[in-house]
Amino acid sequence: MRQLTLPDQINSQMKHDPDTIHLAVAIDGPAGSGKSTTAREVARRLGYQHVDTGAMYRAVTWKALDSDTDVNDSMAVGRLAYEIDIMFVNDDGSPKQVLVDGVDVTDAIRSAEVTRNVSVVSSHPAVRAAMVRIQRRLARRGNVVLEGRDIGTVVLPSAEVKIYLDASSNERARRRLKEMEAKGSTSSIEDVRADIERRDSYDSSRETSPLRIPVGARVVDTTALTIDEQVNAVVATVERVRGRLAAARVAPGGQNPVTREKPFYRFVRLAAWFTARLVFGLRVIDEDRDDYAEAYLYAANHRSNGDPPVVAAARERELAFLAKESLFDVPLLGPLIRKLNSIPTARERFDRKAVRVALKWLQEGGSLLMFPEGQRSRSLELGEAKAGVGYLALRSGRPVVPVFISGTEDLWGALFRQKKLTVAFGRPMRLTDPENTGTSSESCHEFGKMVMAALAALQDEIEPGPRAG
Ligand code: C5P
Repeated sequence: MRQLTLPDQINSQMKHDPDTIHLAVAIDGPAGSGKSTTAREVARRLGYQHVDTGAMYRAVTWKALDSDTDVNDSMAVGRLAYEIDIMFVNDDGSPKQVLVDGVDVTDAIRSAEVTRNVSVVSSHPAVRAAMVRIQRRLARRGNVVLEGRDIGTVVLPSAEVKIYLDASSNERARRRLKEMEAKGSTSSIEDVRADIERRDSYDSSRETSPLRIPVGARVVDTTALTIDEQVNAVVATVERVRGRLAAARVAPGGQNPVTREKPFYRFVRLAAWFTARLVFGLRVIDEDRDDYAEAYLYAANHRSNGDPPVVAAARERELAFLAKESLFDVPLLGPLIRKLNSIPTARERFDRKAVRVALKWLQEGGSLLMFPEGQRSRSLELGEAKAGVGYLALRSGRPVVPVFISGTEDLWGALFRQKKLTVAFGRPMRLTDPENTGTSSESCHEFGKMVMAALAALQDEIEPGPRAG
């Protein structure tokens, strides 16, 4: 078969065409902030797929009520969430029909009874894990608008566009009431507002994935906006992000300036690469195949001393590392890692000096690998992020690439091919609204959680198990 090849020039123009950039748009916000209407219309205008994740939690709630399952029984409702078959039909921009196990529940999931019970149902971790897994799969190919409460923070922390819609509770109650009246049901504004405030407080205070403004999101207050105005605000943000990404993208075959390596670094890295590939059978997964002229902060889980060489081997660019102070005293290893851009760090405390050196490296255009959990963990479960990753990411403004490493905990297993050695690079996490993103310690802390959520998403793909999303 004859292959069609385009002249390089056209090819590179195509690469830079913002329309070829596939995005995920995450829209979060409280009840009545206009999420559904906005998300549906934004998706229609962009030609993207629209996923209403609230409808999914409502579908599970409907099924629990329909099958007389106690909504407080987290085990029973969790099981139901794993088994449920939810389908959205209609892709013409009109509100979709929702089918649960083949039954049309489009209207039933909006009933007062479902609304009353949905917050409890959606607070069970097993329910969330099941729904989040489905939502991430739906978003995998990009060109999607997902709306909900935890999309930008937990479901898609790497979504290129994160929007948070808000409005006063009065205005939100007024909108809900109008909607209800159109459907023929009557209620007082006070009752509707009380219901909205009750759900707000429940959704924001629950333990698993509470409603939060994703760090870096563009916040749009819709209290005084028309639907058209809020849709315009979101679409304008999408276009801005698209333009930014197109400008950073490197044409195929083009030289990426950030991938330059010093000869000694390259020599050691290639040696590590061949060892990892040929001796240990390393498999590399890249969720984002596009090449950007950007320095990154790589954030990886940490199980073994083999982690830094495995990650570095798989990237054709010079990285710096944060390494334990004591390693610098080891004969041979100490001078070697010093030559390979390692920054000595104290383990027991927040090492201001090390963080300052790392920040300077990032600000000067270098890429850095760090382990947000701070130290190695024997357990295969992810821990919590320390303050460093959020601080470095927000202060430097560099995109964070989540990296999940699996198999370094058992290198003998990998050597004999009984275990797989895998390193997976997720999509870079970028701030949608960098100008308005602060670097308060709370933001750093919240951003660290988002990085761990991105690692959890990769882990769920590579080491699937019954763990929570
Ligand atoms: O958006 P909607 O009102 O349909 O959402 C119904 C409920 O589902 C919310 O009050 C919230 O408890 C839950 N939900 C959630 N996470 C999402 C979407 C909805 O917990 N991503």
